[in-house]
Amino acid sequence: MVETLDIKITKVASSRLAQVDFNNIPFGKVYADHMFIADYRKGDWGHFRVVPYGHIQVSPATPALHYGQSIFEGLKAYKNDRNEALVFRPLDNWKRMNISADRLCMPYLPEDIFMEGMETLIRMDRNWIPTTLGSSLYIRPFMFSAEEYIGIRPSLDFTFMIINSPVGPYYSTPVRVKIETKYTRAIEGGTGFAKTGGNYAGSLYPAKLAQEQGYHQLIWTDGKEHKYVEESGTMNLMFVMDDVVVTPELGDTILRGITRDSVLALARQWGLKVEERKVTVKELVDGLKSGRVTEAFGAGTAATIAHIELIGYEGKNYFLPPVETRRFSNRVLEELDGIKHGTRPDTMGWIHTI
Ligand SMILES: *Cc1c(COP(=O)(O)O)cnc(C)c1O
Repeated sequence: MVETLDIKITKVASSRLAQVDFNNIPFGKVYADHMFIADYRKGDWGHFRVVPYGHIQVSPATPALHYGQSIFEGLKAYKNDRNEALVFRPLDNWKRMNISADRLCMPYLPEDIFMEGMETLIRMDRNWIPTTLGSSLYIRPFMFSAEEYIGIRPSLDFTFMIINSPVGPYYSTPVRVKIETKYTRAIEGGTGFAKTGGNYAGSLYPAKLAQEQGYHQLIWTDGKEHKYVEESGTMNLMFVMDDVVVTPELGDTILRGITRDSVLALARQWGLKVEERKVTVKELVDGLKSGRVTEAFGAGTAATIAHIELIGYEGKNYFLPPVETRRFSNRVLEELDGIKHGTRPDTMGWIHTI
């Protein structure tokens, strides 16, 4: 890639790398040495810089703090045995970030700022990518309004940043989920398809209630009738029903997951039948009772695939077949992990090598 951005680089005086125990990384608490920052002022992006990771100063009147004008992305880098960084589908995250930006009245972020910012950081902090199997460097690009103005209108000033966090292998024990029929994550006309902070803030309380009842997370249903299932926690939701891979169709209320898209692409490549359509709670519960639903899982960057152990609905728990018997989700997890780590061929062109 041709370097076009003028990025001013300030390196750390001494790296914190030696302080990190890569065999035991607490999720989301350790950050790589450097971070990338860009400012949007007077209608243009500029002041591109890499600086030591650390606290930032914002005005107490920053609208992001008061009104949640903020968006984010999440993607991962892995390392292969040639010390190359393999980033999974970064351009898709860049595209999605701009879909979110549009909905939140935030400025378009050009591709080179996203990509060169990320590439510069990865080159500088390459040694922060864990090599233990299943571990990776979680890349968190985000943008927030940064004006000093407490009035209600779209901001004029914004900040875009990227921070990176090494994360350990995600030992996904199968999750227990509850179908939520009171609270709503997203509604037609709302912001459900955007990766914005407010969607998460609003989902904490119902998720907490479910956890008090012994579930790990919720299956969200549509906000109008609570009749259709939509997502599982912060992941997209997928099933195998009668040997068909079924997932709720995209729309206003469903985040356009890159893992979701990758799972569907592989299923189609393998010649499986795939359906993106509305899935009713009734169909799901009936299918669990009759045994027609043989697999259920969440799909997202954090775990790739999170097998669902049981689904709670109206006080009853419906168990899925043992995880060992789930042919599709196990195969897709193995294939995606292989592609991400560079041990399986990347026939789809998903890997961006740095
Ligand atoms: C980020 C996210 C997902 C998963 O998207 P990926 O691109 O696969 O990581 C699913 N649902 C919600 C609500 C999300 O925020």
